[in-house]
Amino acid sequence: MFDLHGKVAIVTGGNGGIGLGMARGLASAGATVVIAARNLEKSRAAVAELKARGWAASAIPVDVTQDAAVNALITQTVEHHGRLDILVNNAGTNIRQPAHDLTIAQWHTVIDTNLTSAFLCAKAAYPALKRGGGGKIINIGSMMSIFGASFAPAYAASKGGIVQLTRSLASAWARDNIQANAVLPGWIDTDLTRGAREQIPGLHENVLRRTPAARWGVIDDLAGIAVFLASPASDFVSGAAIPVDGGYSIQG
Ligand code: NDP
Repeated sequence: MFDLHGKVAIVTGGNGGIGLGMARGLASAGATVVIAARNLEKSRAAVAELKARGWAASAIPVDVTQDAAVNALITQTVEHHGRLDILVNNAGTNIRQPAHDLTIAQWHTVIDTNLTSAFLCAKAAYPALKRGGGGKIINIGSMMSIFGASFAPAYAASKGGIVQLTRSLASAWARDNIQANAVLPGWIDTDLTRGAREQIPGLHENVLRRTPAARWGVIDDLAGIAVFLASPASDFVSGAAIPVDGGYSIQG
């Protein structure tokens, strides 16, 4: 039910953080994983880590905000690996400024990286997924898909948008046997949140206090949900937005 042998997966931003945690999960279940991010050196290190564990992986450099580069990613993946079954739209960034200080350029950077990228990748992947008889799209939202963020309005808008994009893709492509779902991670220890902890006083303790599991997540906490949403086990799960947050979002 959770077997991914013979499947090919792209993980954008898979060279570190949550993307790498998901890539580990998918590769451990048998998928061939394409690590797709800008920093090729970092991607090669991630590929080496996966291969050292006996798993199949390769790296393709891409800036997910660029339509032509995204199309090339899909084309090269199908050329090298013969097919595409799973797309994880994980690449993301944040610029922490309240709305009154956020420039339009900063707004576009965050929206393009977090939201427009998912649209571009899904659109480019659709013909290959359909040709293969169906597929899985996993979009990465956030607690800010649910809550507002006074310190990060563009980020919250992008992550709210990810949920609605997911539902739209899920309903449009269900008849093609493509399931699209969103994962909403809680506070996970990565480069992104290390920056947030430096910028936001008290964040570390607040997360510990509010999270019923009483800890920050680690990247391997996202491996299981990736396998579930990529595998036949989730074939009737579509358009869902699933928190993986140690209970953060159910705490009043
Ligand atoms: P990291 O900063 O560790 O990873 C971000 C990844 O995105 C990197 O691999 C980076 O690779 C890639 N990336 C960024 N911009 C681009 C781009 N333009 N083109 C291609 N790749 C890009 O962050 P996280 O692992 O924490 O975040 C991963 C996702 O999870 C994001 O969508 C984030 O919003 C989300 N998330 C994170 C949470 C957390 O607590 N950490 C909580 C909720 C959601 P490179 O620089 O090589 O391009």
